[in-house]
Amino acid sequence: MIISGKELSARLKTDMRDEVSAFPEKYGRVPHLVVILVGDDPASVSYVTGKAKASEFVGIRNTTVRKPETITEEELLALIRQLNADDTVDGILVQLPLPKHISEAKVIEAIDKSKDVDGFHPLNVAALWQKQPCTLPCTPKGIIKMLKTAGVKIAGKRAVVIGRSNIVGLPVAKLLLDENATVTIAHSKTEDLPALTRQADILVVAIGRPKFVTADMVSDGAVVIDVGVNRDPETGKLCGDVDFAAIEPKASVITPVPGGVGPMTICCLMENTIECFLRRMKPSL
Ligand code: NAP
Repeated sequence: MIISGKELSARLKTDMRDEVSAFPEKYGRVPHLVVILVGDDPASVSYVTGKAKASEFVGIRNTTVRKPETITEEELLALIRQLNADDTVDGILVQLPLPKHISEAKVIEAIDKSKDVDGFHPLNVAALWQKQPCTLPCTPKGIIKMLKTAGVKIAGKRAVVIGRSNIVGLPVAKLLLDENATVTIAHSKTEDLPALTRQADILVVAIGRPKFVTADMVSDGAVVIDVGVNRDPETGKLCGDVDFAAIEPKASVITPVPGGVGPMTICCLMENTIECFLRRMKPSL
């Protein structure tokens, strides 16, 4: 079974569009997401365009602020402070990666926690690990939604997550743990990775290497979630971290690239923006 993140996200975004259409009457306005793009890296431009398109579909107001690569860290932090203070802004997202002269950690920390639609702010991360109310990071949240929609039983299963980044690997592992999976996190120093991945009922791969996971690394019937976004060195086409053609016949459930985790990430960004908006409109939430 191939889980189409494209189809699921289209369904969820349609539901959100219905919800948002009632907001002007209820709250006097729609949610407002501000996306800051520094420089003109083609991948970042494409991600930001995708976010603007999704916002337009859902009915969220989107402002994309483009700044040159030469912007200083202080100028960027000043812009964030200005947006934090702006009552008409519900969500702030700074597209990563940033140029080397700007500290990503400082930028993430500068965004007001209540407007942190990416769920990257240290206070949101801490709340996630302490099981407190928080904004969940979009990619991990999207992965759990896909698993649940596909009817995958998570509780009691052995999950292996390859990758331990703050934005994907670690939070995915935490959300799987919260769903009562038994979770192992693998990384570049893991010895005999294939022996480990063959034990996985649920395998989540977030490395960033084209077709890194081969058929011999996956057990029959495993659920395989491919987070990677790479260019196939042979064809130049978009591909994941998983050798999809070889693994699809073995897996019980698998996500494609493109059209899998990527669209769900943007869908969850829309959901997070609505959640941040509603928390401002209804502080009791
Ligand atoms: P990252 O910060 O570069 O982390 C990569 C992780 O992979 C690290 O933990 C690294 O281990 C591990 N790794 C690298 N080589 C390995 C190996 N040979 N064996 C085992 N583990 C290895 O990347 P990221 O930000 O998590 O992103 C991962 C991928 O997901 C990228 O392709 C990215 O483009 C994609 N992504 C997709 C979405 C989406 O919405 N679809 C969202 C975010 C990211 P160490 O910690 O030991 O270095």
